[in-house]
Order: sequence, then structure tokens, then C-alpha cells
Amino acid sequence: MNHLLTTDEQRHHADLVHRVESAWAGTAADWERLGTLPDDVVRWCADEGLMGAALPAELGGGGATAVRTGLLYEALGRVSASLASYVNVHGMAAQTVAKWGTEEQWREVMPGLATGKRAAAICMTEPGAGSDLSTIGTELTERDGKLVLNGGKVFITCGELADVFLVFAQRAGHSTVCLVERDNPGLVTRPMGELLGLRAAALAEVDFRDCVVPERHVVGRDGFGLSILMPHALEHGRHAVAWMALGMLQAVVSEAAAFVAGRRSFGRHLVEHGQVQSLVTRMGTDLEAAKLMCLAASRAVDDGARDASDRILMAKYFTCRVLEEHAAQAVQLLASRGVLEAGRAARAYRDSKVLNIIEGTTQIVERMLAPSLLRTHAKKGL
Ligand SMILES: Cc1cc2nc3c(=O)[nH]c(=O)nc-3n(C[C@H](O)[C@H](O)[C@H](O)COP(=O)(O)OP(=O)(O)OC[C@H]3O[C@@H](n4cnc5c(N)ncnc54)[C@H](O)[C@@H]3O)c2cc1C
Repeated sequence: MNHLLTTDEQRHHADLVHRVESAWAGTAADWERLGTLPDDVVRWCADEGLMGAALPAELGGGGATAVRTGLLYEALGRVSASLASYVNVHGMAAQTVAKWGTEEQWREVMPGLATGKRAAAICMTEPGAGSDLSTIGTELTERDGKLVLNGGKVFITCGELADVFLVFAQRAGHSTVCLVERDNPGLVTRPMGELLGLRAAALAEVDFRDCVVPERHVVGRDGFGLSILMPHALEHGRHAVAWMALGMLQAVVSEAAAFVAGRRSFGRHLVEHGQVQSLVTRMGTDLEAAKLMCLAASRAVDDGARDASDRILMAKYFTCRVLEEHAAQAVQLLASRGVLEAGRAARAYRDSKVLNIIEGTTQIVERMLAPSLLRTHAKKGL
């Protein structure tokens, strides 16, 4: 990919990879057993300026382009999908407030979010509402002149770590979004327990029991929650997931390549066996294609291209799909070493399934992409 990046972007990426790998490559596997990110990792993300990197400079953020933001997630994904997800969900919530918040909300919330001193989580999913969020049951109602939030969310990434929650709810039959602070007496979080993947991402169930929400904490206009705010947050999330999947793919391909180049069987290096060459070729080619798709998506965002949303969806769809395939192949090639729980390949194998579920499942992404791909190709001919 380097030849498609500017010299500055190449340096920025090499610096990020060095910083993330030298700080955490040795310990990231241990976080899985803890079920959360340790405090020093959380502090490091803030100190390194990662949490606000993509936020507008006028709001205290780093003002990173989409390409630079993508390169950040790639570097994080190489080491830990949970770490990348922590930065991502914070970004999804913070970007939503940056784009649709009032000046009062910016003054109140953005300094903490842009510096990463306060972490945010994004609360959409409920037991009865996942892909189809029109059935959300969490409700913001008016009672005795106050706004009161009641309901329950599940699978909230970093719900155990967040200081502030961006919550999607219903208000008088319209979708709405509000901010809820960790210290709200009606807010209760519970760890979700052992998961297949993203094990260090501190997933939580989040309950709102008569949470009083000040009117100034409602983000955007009522009725805009599902149609505008959610797609905005999800687009940021899909872009991040595509790039973190790319970093994970790079990590497993590198590990598998080093292994097959060095390991011998039946008098030859593994890579000299035709079946292994076939696997390595598929991995390397899909990795190259994924890099091009991620980069094309980010450049489209930076250029304000009309097809930027579709390009993000395609990059997420393709990269997560080939990651799932090749993480499994990497485990196969590494064989007994591949199944070691703490190994990079085993973690990627488990995490890759999750990436095909979050920010739009494979099926939902296909549902979104198929009509526009058909329109495009019907016009131009396939
Ligand atoms: C590790 C992890 C972290 C998460 N983090 C967050 C978070 O931070 N915040 C948050 O709000 N949520 C989070 N989620 C929830 C995630 O966004 C949902 O799991 C996802 O949206 C799918 O919803 P669901 O699980 O309810 O599945 P469902 O929507 O019930 O789907 C079940 C199956 O049906 C398929 N399906 C559904 N509708 C259609 C259709 N129209 N056509 C074809 N197939 C369809 C789906 O693809 C899926 O295979 C997380 C989930 C996981 C696993």
C-alpha cells in the first residue's frame, strides 16, 4: 500500500505501528483473560491523543483525515481488535456529538471526549432490537417536568469503561438520542461475561432505571435519531472496522508467512508444497485487495465523493469477509501453534467473526449495497 500513500502518510503509519506494537504487542493477549483493557492502556490511548484524533481541530481534536484515521485503526488492529474497538466506539459517539451537538454540548462534553480523559460508549442494541433498530423499546418520557429514561441495552462495547453513554431511544413515538453520564443514579452496568471475540472490550449490559436526563443532553432534533444520527455513527464505525480488520489480516498473514517460510515437512519448507502456496497466494492477494479497498474508501471520504458511503460498506464487507477466511487458514497453517489461545491467529480467528456482526451484519451490508451496485452496473454494463 505504501506506494499509494503520501510520504507523510507513510511516516505517520510507520510511527503509529511502532508506537502501538512497542507498547502493547507483548501483553495484548493477557487482556483477554481480564475481560477488559487495563487502566494503563486506557490512559495511554488518551495520552497518545488517539481518542480525539479524528475529531475536528476546532473542537479540540486532531482533525485527522479519513486516510490517517484509517491508518490509526490499522495499526491498532494489528495488535488487538479490543483496543481498536475501544477507540472506535468512543469515536462513533464523539463524532455524533461533534456533528449534531449544540454549542452548549460541545462546551460541556467535547473537552473530555477530545482529550480522551472521558471515554464514551454507544448504546443502540437491545434484546429485542439489533439489525432492525426501529423496534427500540428504551424510552425517554416527560414526567413532572423532567425527562426520564427507562430501558435496557445489551452488547455495549466498553460499557464497563465508559464515562458517558450516547443512547438511542424513543420519545413520544419518535427516535431520539441523548447523553447519559456514568454517575447518573439510574444507570446500571453489568459485564456481559465470556464472549467468542472482543474479549478485552469490556462489553456490558446497560440499564436505565428512571434516569433523569437534562433537556440539554438531547442530541439533535427529535425524530432524527434513526434516520440521521445512527447512520452517521455507523458510517464512522464501518470505516474503522474495515481498517482494523485490515490490520488484523496483515498480522495473521505475516505470522503465517514467517511460519511457512521457516518450517519444514517431508524434506521441504512448507512453502514449497503446492497446497501451501495456494493458501499463501490467496492470503497475499486478498490482503492487497483489502488495502486498496480501504484506501479507496478513505480517499473517497476525504474527497467528499458521492460514493463514499458505498465504498466504506464495500471495504468493510470485503475486508471482514477475507479476514474471517484467512484467520481460519492461518490457524490451519500454524496448526498446533495456531490453536494456542493467546496466539495472534487464534485471537484473530475469534475476533473476525465478531467483525462480521458489528456495525451491520454481513447480511445487512449486502441488503444495503446490492441495490446501489445493481444500479451502477446496470447502467455501465458488467
Ligand atoms: C462483540 C460485540 C460488540 C458489540 N458492540 C455494540 C455496541 O457497542 N453498541 C451497540 O449498540 N451494539 C453493539 N453490538 C451489537 C451489534 O450491533 C448487533 O449484534 C448487530 O447489530 C446484530 O444485531 P443482533 O445481534 O440483534 O442480530 P439480529 O438483528 O437479530 O440478526 C440475526 C440474524 O438475522 C440476520 N438478519 C437480520 N435482518 C435481516 C434481513 N433483513 N435480511 C437478511 N438477514 C437478516 C442477521 O444478519 C443475523 O445473521 C455488539 C455486538 C457484539 C457481538
